Amino acid sequence: MVRGSKMWEKLIKQVAGIVVLSTQVWQSASAQSTAPSEKLLMHCQQFQQVYDGISQQVITPDSATRAFQQAMLGLRETVGKDSCQTGTAGTYVYPLRGQLPRYSIGSRGRGYRATGFDLFDSDVRGSHPAQDLFIRDGDQDELDDRLGQPIDVLAFTSGVVVAMETGWGPNSKMRGGNYIWIYDPCLDGLFYYAHNKCVTVVPGQWVRAGEKIGEVGRTGYNAFKERSPTHLHLMFLRITPEGLPKPENTYTWLSGAEVVH
Ligand SMILES: [Zn+2]
Repeated sequence: MVRGSKMWEKLIKQVAGIVVLSTQVWQSASAQSTAPSEKLLMHCQQFQQVYDGISQQVITPDSATRAFQQAMLGLRETVGKDSCQTGTAGTYVYPLRGQLPRYSIGSRGRGYRATGFDLFDSDVRGSHPAQDLFIRDGDQDELDDRLGQPIDVLAFTSGVVVAMETGWGPNSKMRGGNYIWIYDPCLDGLFYYAHNKCVTVVPGQWVRAGEKIGEVGRTGYNAFKERSPTHLHLMFLRITPEGLPKPENTYTWLSGAEVVH
């Protein structure tokens, strides 16, 4: 369940490298012009460990709840509401580049079912507190049928990347596949982007709404199966004052989101 500290050392170097390489991009986001603090990376690591423990079912729901609360209260405190004042609040960019919400949101948004959801107990099934956003991929090669290219996954809102998976393989039972978790301090909530073909961000990295974070794919235990059309699974969890996750439907935000080509 606990990832090696080697991986984190590597990540910290990677993040530092990205910040150096993209100074121009970062300059416009005044509060975010420096490399992520060790404190931020520590809370990201905490979050990753809890989530790994939950998905691999090696942590009890009770201890998962407590560890999640701790990680979230830490993140909230470290990231702070201040980072929200950069003028990014209320900006929603549709997470599939060049795709129109009304053609790509599954079942016109009726796929959202929050009843019975428990983030801390992966034995509980049946709920789907998320929206599935589909691409045209009849031959299931993870490329858009008309463009012959992957479709970029864009950050729906601004925030900081807190966890991710990049090593999913067809033999893995993990349902989210290559996923990304992003904490949005303005909404005080977490976005979860699942089934990506690849992930192009790292924990501790700030992203603005519309920035590329990955590509739509078919990773994940069920998403990989033939009966599943290629899609992005997008979930939003509002964080309560106690640091607990509460799913919310993103349909209205998605329908009105800006489409980026
Ligand atoms: Zn889904």
